[in-house]
Amino acid sequence: MHLFDRRTGLNVLFDEVDVPETQWARAPRQVSIALTNACDLACAFCYAPKNAAVPDAGRLCAWIDELDAEGCLGIGFGGGEPTLYRRLPQVSRHAAERTRLAVTMTTHAHRLTPQLTDALAGALNIVRVSVDGVGTTYEEQRSRPFTELVQRLDTS
Ligand code: SF4
Repeated sequence: MHLFDRRTGLNVLFDEVDVPETQWARAPRQVSIALTNACDLACAFCYAPKNAAVPDAGRLCAWIDELDAEGCLGIGFGGGEPTLYRRLPQVSRHAAERTRLAVTMTTHAHRLTPQLTDALAGALNIVRVSVDGVGTTYEEQRSRPFTELVQRLDTS
């Protein structure tokens, strides 16, 4: 038996509980969704193909509803850079308000303006920021000032 709280990310597994096979969840626990392969950084180690194709927001929301109905526990938005997906606030809010899924995102954070942060408030349970080091270590990998990242996170 698996208990999960999307607000805190708490997972509790009870191995001792004997659940009949007919009640086993068939959905994946977590699904990663690349909202776009586009990105405005050019990290030396990046393997993402940088084409700008994006999913249709309506189809994406329908797919998210289906994942919820089948018992999936969470979705994680990524890319590319997910903040380049114009409908990110709407799709995230749909998932947060109309499903029981945990909604998370992994971002480089350089596009987190106060306006975008406001638009995403309450629509994401967890935001992960990709950081490979601090100071010059970060800057050698990402070709962006580390202080800019800190400022973005400070004002978001
Ligand atoms: S931020 Fe991510 S997607 Fe963008 S170039 Fe770097 S590793 Fe690739």
